[in-house]
Amino acid sequence: MSNNSHEVDIAIIGGGNAGLTLAAQLAAQKCPPNTVVIEPQPPTQRDCSWGLWAQEKQAKELSHSTKGRWKRWQLIDHLSRVTHSSDQYSYVSLSSADYLLDRAAQLHQPVSLVEESVSALKPGQDRTTVVTDQNQYSAKTVYDSRPPKIADNGLRQHFLGWHIHTEQPIKDPDTAILMDFRVDQSRGLHFIYALPFSEHHILVESTLISTTVEPQEWYRNAIKGWLKNNNIQVAEIISEEIGVIPMDTLVVNKQRSQSKSTSAQQPLIAPIGAASGAVRRSSGYAFQHIQQQISQLAAGIEQGNRSVPTPISSRLTTMDKIFNGVLISRPELAVSLYMRMAKALTGDQFSRFMLGEATTSDWLRVIAAMPKGAFLKQLVKQLIR
Ligand SMILES: Cc1cc2nc3c(=O)[nH]c(=O)nc-3n(C[C@H](O)[C@H](O)[C@H](O)COP(=O)(O)OP(=O)(O)OC[C@H]3O[C@@H](n4cnc5c(N)ncnc54)[C@H](O)[C@@H]3O)c2cc1C
Repeated sequence: MSNNSHEVDIAIIGGGNAGLTLAAQLAAQKCPPNTVVIEPQPPTQRDCSWGLWAQEKQAKELSHSTKGRWKRWQLIDHLSRVTHSSDQYSYVSLSSADYLLDRAAQLHQPVSLVEESVSALKPGQDRTTVVTDQNQYSAKTVYDSRPPKIADNGLRQHFLGWHIHTEQPIKDPDTAILMDFRVDQSRGLHFIYALPFSEHHILVESTLISTTVEPQEWYRNAIKGWLKNNNIQVAEIISEEIGVIPMDTLVVNKQRSQSKSTSAQQPLIAPIGAASGAVRRSSGYAFQHIQQQISQLAAGIEQGNRSVPTPISSRLTTMDKIFNGVLISRPELAVSLYMRMAKALTGDQFSRFMLGEATTSDWLRVIAAMPKGAFLKQLVKQLIR
């Protein structure tokens, strides 16, 4: 094993959404900083589906990695079905591997990607040494996107999904099912997420919001039950994807947290992406927040400011904390919270809300639809904490 030492301006740890998006944007600048992205796994080995709401322009830009796109989506419980359609927004599902391969293809000197795993960070006076299994990189600035730690009893969204070839054509391939709550609710807030990619190809995910991850068979049984109830016969399970997304306060790793430096002259180690809190706590969606954070960061770097912008406003985080507080303290209300929110909004308003871009009037509609007592109690709890 060689242990060569390289000097770089910026070391980006992790070549996921945040890391490779940042690297590609730096490579596109007039005078790109000397940058290395350190990532142990090729994108094809960690392919999964990333869902987001996008307007036409962005949807077009992402078409190279788009697996499916819907103008209509539904939320369903035992009592009702809310169908949204939107003129302005589509719900888009990306192949993460295709997205990352596209970003990696945009890199050129002096921005490069190496297949290595970071084992240690050694902060120094002027530079940080990033130690990998093969090399050492001495960097002025380190952006660290390694997945964040979730507190032991923290709320998380965990799921297991199957890509399925179906025997018969899927009934309504133009509608994405975002949440079908007609499943076992005994372990937490549970729903099926089902994306029909074509008449015979559907992704069906069993998603649970709780503090405890269940054995994989539990999610598989939920998928089987849902398929049976919906008369969908499986011709072939093409692949399986699993994931855990934090919906709570992250455990801060002091070495990885941001120092005060903002200029290119002083050393900086800072988290980016999900590790910096880019995951929306009430929904688990992060893609757009990461994109916005990274675009602002890349623009800042070009101007000589290396500090990492906050990915989600503190106002939104506070609202989401209150929402999650009600989910935890009043689990019997959980399904109805999402259904009430969906019923109160049109497709465009719902898309804005999920993107964290709700207008004051969108917020007022949602607040008016919520059970006031439970939210007021949670607000008071939050204030006296
Ligand atoms: C399975 C899954 C599905 C998701 N679906 C959605 C979705 O539909 N919509 C949405 O908005 N959000 C979704 N998310 C949440 C979020 O958008 C993604 O997690 C997103 O990939 C976060 O980007 P990131 O760059 O912060 O982290 P990541 O993309 O996770 O990148 C971190 C990288 O760090 C690398 N790494 C780890 N250890 C080391 C090491 N020692 N040295 C170097 N590199 C290392 C990892 O290999 C990884 O590539 C999903 C998350 C998961 C896990």
